[in-house]
Amino acid sequence: MNWEEMKIDQPTVMTMLERSMEKDRLAHAYIFEGMRGAGKKAAAVLLSKSLFCQQKIKSAPCGNCAECRRIDHGNHPDVMLVEPEGATIKKAQVESLQKEFTYKGMEAGLKVYIVNEADKMTASAANSLLKFLEEPESPTLALLLTENTHFMLDTIISRSQKVTFAPPPLKKRTAIYIEKGFSEAAASLLARLPDQIAGEYAEERKDWIVHGRTLVIQLVEEVHHRPQQMLLTIQEKWLAHFTDRKELDIGLDLLLFWYRDLLAVKHKKDNLAYPDQVDKLEQDALQMSEREVAQRLQQILEAKRRLRANVNAQLLMEQLLLRLQEGS
Ligand SMILES: [Zn+2]
Repeated sequence: MNWEEMKIDQPTVMTMLERSMEKDRLAHAYIFEGMRGAGKKAAAVLLSKSLFCQQKIKSAPCGNCAECRRIDHGNHPDVMLVEPEGATIKKAQVESLQKEFTYKGMEAGLKVYIVNEADKMTASAANSLLKFLEEPESPTLALLLTENTHFMLDTIISRSQKVTFAPPPLKKRTAIYIEKGFSEAAASLLARLPDQIAGEYAEERKDWIVHGRTLVIQLVEEVHHRPQQMLLTIQEKWLAHFTDRKELDIGLDLLLFWYRDLLAVKHKKDNLAYPDQVDKLEQDALQMSEREVAQRLQQILEAKRRLRANVNAQLLMEQLLLRLQEGS
């Protein structure tokens, strides 16, 4: 995606960045906050290119010069990308970034680092980053990308300028997966998952997402109509399907989408994550107030947060289901 295309998707963000660059008033740290697929990483890469490009036109990098190409290939010495290794970003990753930049700090000039899914930093990684934000060795621009600012340290948030991305066009994303041969039901879920994960499961494990979806539909049915069944389903089916923390997190996402759909149905919106379940959704929506749905969304988000803290998966799911069932 080039600068102009990005500007069509995210006009507010890109115009703000353009103006800041023109006035030479970029902040030292930005938090790019927005939904999956909103283009946060693409925008961060474009901004990095714009700062190093030798042939840019106004703010738009050319995309062809040596600097632009090195950034595209991830081997520019002054632009570094940090992403989760497994479920988290670890302290050692932040430290190696610092080491790299301190070493190169000898040569003057701007350094840029992009931290993708920055909310997945462990507490010690975040504290390490905080020190770096406070005392960089040379002029440094930090781009911290996240879907969930509220999982980040307040001290990091307060030292950064928050930039909010508009949600991506879901319909467009759904259509892409349908074109790839998925049913509308599976495509609607894939369109809502992170690109990387959706891509991985779409290519390699087509049936996995479809089966996971069936389990979610069964589970919410049990939570609200046959609660005596639900703990057994968790033990025998859920934990056998969502086997590690990454997959459990996807499972919680699929569950989250169900309750978001309940809200959408209440507001008579279309574009559901479970489009073929609209009858069930409408039925359940009648039995819960908007506030009760919102509470359940909070409970699932809380479970996602606790999942990162390495709690026992079975215990986590059982507690969550009891809360979803009781609604408190
Ligand atoms: Zn260029």
